[in-house]
Amino acid sequence: MSDPTSRIPGRRLLHAPGPSPIPDEVLHAMNVQNMDLADPRVDASIAACETGLRAVFGTGAATRVLMFIANGHGVWESVVQNLAAPGEAVLVPGTGHFADQWARVAEALGRVVVRTPWREGFPIDAEAVAAALRDDRAHAIRAVFAVHTDTASGVTSDLVALRRAIDDARHPALLVADAVASLACEPIEMDARGLDVVIGASQKGLMCPPGLGIVAVNDRAFAAAQACAAPRFYWDWVARDGAMNYQKFCGTPPLPLLHGLAAALALLQAEGLDAVYARHRRLAGAVHAAVEGWAEAGTLGFVAQEPATRSVSVTAISVPERIDVDALRTLARERFQVAMAGGLGALRGRAFRIGHLGDQNEANILGAIAGVECTLRTMGVPVGDGIRRAVRALAG
Ligand SMILES: *Cc1c(COP(=O)(O)O)cnc(C)c1O
Repeated sequence: MSDPTSRIPGRRLLHAPGPSPIPDEVLHAMNVQNMDLADPRVDASIAACETGLRAVFGTGAATRVLMFIANGHGVWESVVQNLAAPGEAVLVPGTGHFADQWARVAEALGRVVVRTPWREGFPIDAEAVAAALRDDRAHAIRAVFAVHTDTASGVTSDLVALRRAIDDARHPALLVADAVASLACEPIEMDARGLDVVIGASQKGLMCPPGLGIVAVNDRAFAAAQACAAPRFYWDWVARDGAMNYQKFCGTPPLPLLHGLAAALALLQAEGLDAVYARHRRLAGAVHAAVEGWAEAGTLGFVAQEPATRSVSVTAISVPERIDVDALRTLARERFQVAMAGGLGALRGRAFRIGHLGDQNEANILGAIAGVECTLRTMGVPVGDGIRRAVRALAG
């Protein structure tokens, strides 16, 4: 393997489903000197982030947008700490690896976790959620923690169906959506869909380096946090609810990340969110077309079983155990300059994943698909014609 700092000709295409490529405008915006915290530019950056984030969450001015120096795991913990006290219960609908991980966080913190069953390659079973909530006659479950797009399987669940399931069960649980993999890639519509809390992170559709965890909290959820007896400090939403930047961040704000995020949100705004979402759908369609072509040889396939649930952000491709996924990724990265992700959790060694979220365009996506197809053919994996299908999908 070549020295990681040595120059490669051209650019390596980054198609992990996070961290995703960073636009030059964002890199430049972060390359600034520190400022004193009374400098109005600091507050201006924070305000730009809050306003831009409200647009991608699909929420109004009443929703509190909180930013943490953290990754997605950090904001998972903050959700647990603010919405359920130790010994209280939450419901985590099964989606696969990411739901399992969130449930583990809650259990490690002493919360009771009710899980609903899941089938690999399928979305959240809203019926099972409604049944679990109806069984909870005492209304002990404080919240439903739902992963919108499970990044391990590339399956996106229906948040509207989940809201309906909670309402049909006449249960007061809050609905919390993990949109880490879908935020700024497709409409989240927090208010219209009745989501009480939505979480995100900087390094995926938001096109920034890792390091900012984001939580949008509506009034109902904020009131629940105020009433929540869980001991907490850094993760507390209530203590951060103020105008001072030092208070909002429980200490010094992460200046470069804020400047970068403000620049990324300005790019999304300039392109237009509807155009951003349409671009994600179009590019995902090209990847899905390529996988359909590869699958014709009978060896590879989609992890996501229902076409309508296939994510606009990431596609997980199942491979038989005899194919070495690590070798496939290494060959793709080092020889064909396409960096991808492997399988996670139960899918480790049984899948690889192509990210198509964030700062991507037609040429990036076609390059990635061609690089993957070169890799598969070099390894002797039987595949049908993927690249032609992708070209046809994009050429319309
Ligand atoms: C990436 C991801 C996470 C975890 O984020 P980290 O920043 O890696 O901690 C959580 N949920 C989903 C859906 C993700 O895609």
